Amino acid sequence: MLLEIQDISLFYGPIQAVSGASIHVAEGEIVAIVGANGAGKSTLLKAIAGLVPPKSGSIRFNGQDITTLAAHRRVSAGIALCPEGRQVFPDQTVADNLELGAYALNLSAADLSAAIEEQFDIFPRLRERRAQPAVTLSGGEQQMLAIGRALMSRPKLLLMDEPSLGLAPLIIKDIFAAIRRLRERGMTILLVEQMANQALRAADRAYVIETGRITLTGTGREMLASPEVRAAYLGGG
Ligand code: ATP
Repeated sequence: MLLEIQDISLFYGPIQAVSGASIHVAEGEIVAIVGANGAGKSTLLKAIAGLVPPKSGSIRFNGQDITTLAAHRRVSAGIALCPEGRQVFPDQTVADNLELGAYALNLSAADLSAAIEEQFDIFPRLRERRAQPAVTLSGGEQQMLAIGRALMSRPKLLLMDEPSLGLAPLIIKDIFAAIRRLRERGMTILLVEQMANQALRAADRAYVIETGRITLTGTGREMLASPEVRAAYLGGG
């Protein structure tokens, strides 16, 4: 198992955001966590990235207990977070944004440009826009840039927080096509989404989280067929 979270509880001061959640992700899987606004999805990803310390429970990654490991060490261990709302550096160029994603690796100039070229192979549209400031990109292109920047740290596990947020349906399809391409390249992906449809189609397995608790789990296909999931997260259709 690449990632194994056991019985984790997460708080912001007195507010409990996640209660006793257990999830696992095997190498090469796409796993989705779906849930409503405020259910605890982002908090769970932040805990894996080392940005919210667990009150109880454990996180194992790649054979190592990382429950208390500092966030920057988790990046070196192979965990990258593509944050909600993309958070690209607006005034920096596309190439500079990508470069910043690799800062922890201390790459040589040659390795750095090879790594940037690799992102351009995955997201050809970024290549055409390499010298533009990120702020001039469309929302979908900024999402691709945010994914590319996360991939620059050469992760074993990519965490994605609401990659579809604020994007039009056709663009969301593009983003999920890119997510599938990444899996074909061997990337393991844990993503959280409020808009469950595309996420469940792409996912090998999924979890539903409701007010901080995992309430349902199954294959992406099972979840798409589940009446509860359809009613709550797929517009009832
Ligand atoms: P969204 O899709 O809106 O991001 P989410 O499922 O990711 O929702 P979280 O952001 O993880 O939900 O929030 C879980 C709970 O923790 C919510 O009740 C939220 O109000 C609370 N919370 C989140 N961040 C903080 C914070 N910094 N301080 C206090 N409470 C917080």
